Amino acid sequence: MKKFSMNKAFFMVLFIMLSLTCTNKVHAQKVHAQNGHTKNGQVLNSGTNKSSPASNSKQDSKTGDSSEVVDNSEDGDEGSSSTEEPDDYSIKILRSEDVEKDNITTKDDYINRQFIITIPGDYVDFYNENVPEEMDDSIKSISVKLDSNGDTKIYLKTKTVRAFAVEENDEAIFVTVMAPKDMYGKIVVIDAGHGGTDPGAMGNSLVEKNLTLSILQHAKEYLDGESDIKVYYTRLTDFEKMITKGKSTDPIKTSKASLIARYTFANETQADLFISIHINAAGKTAKGTEIEYSPNNPRTNRMGISSNQLANLCLPNLLSAINSTNRNIKPRPNLAVLKYTKMPAILIESAFLTNKSDAKVLADDSKRDEIGYAIYSTILQAFEEY
Ligand SMILES: [Zn+2]
Repeated sequence: MKKFSMNKAFFMVLFIMLSLTCTNKVHAQKVHAQNGHTKNGQVLNSGTNKSSPASNSKQDSKTGDSSEVVDNSEDGDEGSSSTEEPDDYSIKILRSEDVEKDNITTKDDYINRQFIITIPGDYVDFYNENVPEEMDDSIKSISVKLDSNGDTKIYLKTKTVRAFAVEENDEAIFVTVMAPKDMYGKIVVIDAGHGGTDPGAMGNSLVEKNLTLSILQHAKEYLDGESDIKVYYTRLTDFEKMITKGKSTDPIKTSKASLIARYTFANETQADLFISIHINAAGKTAKGTEIEYSPNNPRTNRMGISSNQLANLCLPNLLSAINSTNRNIKPRPNLAVLKYTKMPAILIESAFLTNKSDAKVLADDSKRDEIGYAIYSTILQAFEEY
């Protein structure tokens, strides 16, 4: 990366958090070519993003395009400090003088509808005196806490899923809060079916909720390399409170609450595509892969693709990924996550865990990786071809 000159009147770095909650898993670089897409092995940092201007890729907040630096500098005035404020922002957070610029880390904790800024060191008293200044009503609440590492965490809570951009000058951190669609050009929600007290189907020593999560995590490895696609995951662990809203431990009730929570979450993200991952179950003989969509959700997204077209893109990718029997595309008019999502939505039923030969495939992590890659390829294709 190039070095940035400081002899400018104003120098500002704009970057976007890449949606990454939870996972600490950064996988080894992979080269994987399929369907004309060559993975170059780019793996972005996951978990939290450090706001170092020299070490991270940036996105233009308006377009989602990669851009190096947004430099609003006025020429001249060599050596002056950069205290000019951005034209537009939602919240201004002063930095203590002894905290260096670009030393903060941030996390888009979208499942909990919050954005977390971590400042190294204890500045809780500082923020009690210098309360962050809100410019609009985009934030529901702000709280400042000391974490177990002795660092200061600033929590910006929102009512619904929002997108965040951060800029800094020599004095303060400026956070802009926007509707996801206004910040990102490409948005996807990937849902790992079931979870927590709801195991989904079980058979041949396999549990559906674990398989769907594994496939999602494989898809994420690839999608982490696509900095222009914002991906929201309904869960990255066995259980996310969001999925049940903590309402019940009864798997049946939880399952219903969980479906409502999933499509509500997807709708808040304003996603362009919704993909729910499931594994099928029946008697011993049924096997193969099918994709479901709801004819009651005929919406197309801003690119013009429909649920049915998305299903048609995805099916051949999935079939070839694990050489699966073709069970085609099936209408499921009243399936909640397909019917009530306000974007093209598909549910993949990738093989049967109740069938011996399919179960053998599903038990193999490298095959689940292939399914994850097929989902990734489908997403790229959907954005390229529509
Ligand atoms: Zn399922």
